[in-house]
Amino acid sequence: GPYFVGVDIGGTNIKVGIVDDSGQTLSFCKTKTEVVKGVDTGIQNLYHAIQDVLSDCKFTMDDVKAIGIATPGTMDIPGGKLVNPPNLPTWKDFPIRQVICDHYSGKKTILQNDANAAAYGEYWVGGAQKAQSLVFWTLGTGIGCGIIIDEMIIEGRHSHGGECGHMIIQMTNGRLCDSGQYGTLEAYAGAKSLVRRCQEQLDSGCASSLNERLQEGIKLTPLLIAQEAEQNDELSNELIMDSAMYLGVGTTTLMHTIDPDMVLFGGAATFGGKDSVLGQRFMDRIREEVKIRAFRVPYENTIIDFATLGSDAGYIGAAGCARRASLKTDSQ
Ligand code: BGC
Repeated sequence: GPYFVGVDIGGTNIKVGIVDDSGQTLSFCKTKTEVVKGVDTGIQNLYHAIQDVLSDCKFTMDDVKAIGIATPGTMDIPGGKLVNPPNLPTWKDFPIRQVICDHYSGKKTILQNDANAAAYGEYWVGGAQKAQSLVFWTLGTGIGCGIIIDEMIIEGRHSHGGECGHMIIQMTNGRLCDSGQYGTLEAYAGAKSLVRRCQEQLDSGCASSLNERLQEGIKLTPLLIAQEAEQNDELSNELIMDSAMYLGVGTTTLMHTIDPDMVLFGGAATFGGKDSVLGQRFMDRIREEVKIRAFRVPYENTIIDFATLGSDAGYIGAAGCARRASLKTDSQ
């Protein structure tokens, strides 16, 4: 020991792991969030999942030092509450930390933003272990971001620190984001936006092998667009390269704000990452845009790459944040 429970709550899945003091996962399981059924169902699913990973290790909650929970969207991190998570509408204002802490008889529980947690996971045991300062992007339905400088996660005064997926990259006639803002990076480079931008092109009569797929009754998804891009469909490839361009713009702004050692990209929508040709093209396009726009010195000295923990980063990082919080309490 000591051991930690890490939880990553998303719009579709809840991931739970038992993580040891060195960041290794001893047991993992995934359950459904079932957002439409409401927060109580989701929390019951979570309790079952936690029971499963504990039993798997022949543990009880007594073997666990602290619990770390990661959730998306606007939140009150020190207050332990969700505020207005676009992908978890039924969880609005839910005081998750207190509820979980009470359920486990006062077990130390902390809350963190999902992207901040994933950034911390990469910093602790993933691709950013050698970095002192990190900008981490997580690409999915939303675009999350976590900034860490010398071990400190930038949460900000109102828990909105590092919400860089919502930086404005288009001032006039900007696309609408799920957050209600116009012209955000997420509204241009998020997975939802990829589908939307694609649909617009197809509606305006653009040639693409996607037209055939849709006629076969296949649904237009980010995955389908990625598959067609891999088969050299020009439209699909261009749309993905546009996402990379927008991300390069956002990354440049952060490099000029933070000047980090490293910028990493994780999350489900990284197009196969370093092991896929499309993933490599995507990364090259991000770097190219940064090269065009950034000052030479940060461009030449900042590592821009894929993260390494994949979809495990969130719960591992949440466990890491729980560990860090319990170390702080111990030393007080
Ligand atoms: C939210 C972030 C979150 C990200 C990924 C964004 O829309 O604003 O808080 O980290 O999605 O879930």
